[in-house]
Amino acid sequence: MNSEINIVSGEKRGHEESEFESKRPRLDNQSTTDSSSSSLYLDTSSILINLYIFKINRHMLDFDFEKVCSVSLSNLNVYACLVCGKYFQGRGRNSHAYFHSLHEDHHVFINLHTLQVYVLPDGYEVKDSSLNDIKYVLHPTFTEEQVALLDQNTKHSYDLNNKKYLPGFVGLNNVKANDYVNVVIQALAHIPPLRDYFILQNFENSTQLVQRFSILVRKIWNPQAFKGQVSPHELLQEISNASNKRFKLAEQSDPIDFLCWFLNSLHKDLGGTKKQNSSIIHKIFQGEVKVESQMIIAKTDVEEKDRSFDVDREIVAKRSPFLLLNLDLPPPPLFQDEVEKNIIPQVALTTILSKYDGRTPQESAGTLKRSQLVHLPNYIIFHIKRFTKNNWAAEKNPTIVNFPIKNLDMGEYLESSSAENLSTHYDLIANICHEGKPGKGKGIYKVHVQHRGKDQWYQIQDLIVEEINAQMIFLSESYIQIWERK
Ligand SMILES: [Zn+2]
Repeated sequence: MNSEINIVSGEKRGHEESEFESKRPRLDNQSTTDSSSSSLYLDTSSILINLYIFKINRHMLDFDFEKVCSVSLSNLNVYACLVCGKYFQGRGRNSHAYFHSLHEDHHVFINLHTLQVYVLPDGYEVKDSSLNDIKYVLHPTFTEEQVALLDQNTKHSYDLNNKKYLPGFVGLNNVKANDYVNVVIQALAHIPPLRDYFILQNFENSTQLVQRFSILVRKIWNPQAFKGQVSPHELLQEISNASNKRFKLAEQSDPIDFLCWFLNSLHKDLGGTKKQNSSIIHKIFQGEVKVESQMIIAKTDVEEKDRSFDVDREIVAKRSPFLLLNLDLPPPPLFQDEVEKNIIPQVALTTILSKYDGRTPQESAGTLKRSQLVHLPNYIIFHIKRFTKNNWAAEKNPTIVNFPIKNLDMGEYLESSSAENLSTHYDLIANICHEGKPGKGKGIYKVHVQHRGKDQWYQIQDLIVEEINAQMIFLSESYIQIWERK
């Protein structure tokens, strides 16, 4: 029998049940919070508690769902029954957890916030190292050394069913139509400085959105998970709340809309302001673009494509920060016959990037514009504008974008006077693509992320995680890409 079990009286430790009376022999004299100094030897209580611990069923435990009492739906002071996995409020004499322990003969409960474990109805706190794995699954923690090794780890972990999984490359449940959130979460969870920040910082006093994203990132990288997949349910609930139901888990939305909203929300919640580098989000993603514009004076004899800046008239220059770069696809050709319809139009990434070369003019609403990058962020997000809406329906441009997976030179789009002395070469680290027809719920989103240690790409579509040949990534209808400075 385990002699390390340490029982602490509910009266001494309890915050809520001062009226609590124990039916079992009082243990006050022996109780302590220091597990090393006092051990209970084989008495009735410790035998019982060992029996209770033996009845804990880890297969029934799932801490991914919203932490609310299954009876009262309250989110305050919620405990999980470690025998059946259900959540109940409180542990006092009139609490739902207390009644559950009496009616179901289930006796071990964990406080989902403090991670303290209690035996009910007695109310003893139990400190037993055999429960640490449960606490870890509920709230995975990592040391800086462990985080530094995440990308090198090629060792598979095994879940409770002995199914192997690779930490960091696990599927996310699609509760109903949240693939558009899943792909964004996966992409962000594979940006090392962002991931490390959300794993290592303490967000106790931060917003629910920040806390739940942090927990989800930890769970994705958890090497000791009970199951080799994670449900983003808790974060989804908070996304719905925080966005005033603009983003729902039961209705597909556009991942680029969600990504913009999410990054801006995290930035604000982390205390970010308009000042440069005021949050980790801006430190990682924020760049600067210079846009020069000139009013167009109508010249009927000039074809649209031949328009150019008139050096004799005023050119207005404006610098603005950006978190992502919008890239326009050329309109797909109008094919005449059935054979031609099978030809998939293609364009080089460098062609659509020429929008930022400082020379190529774009025309919109009577203004001619040319853009150039002034500051390159460490991580560049491209939004390849594939979807348009007309009055009738959503339309999708099927053009395939050709790109080098490594060593994209962004120097050509950076102002030559830029004082930055950093590399202008970037490697792809995440690629979100769309498959199927445009319009809500008609297509699906997938994401490609890379395991750096193995130099292996993975395709993740909700719960399906598969190794993919890097060559296959080029064939996908890329929608959002994230590139990393070398
Ligand atoms: Zn139970």
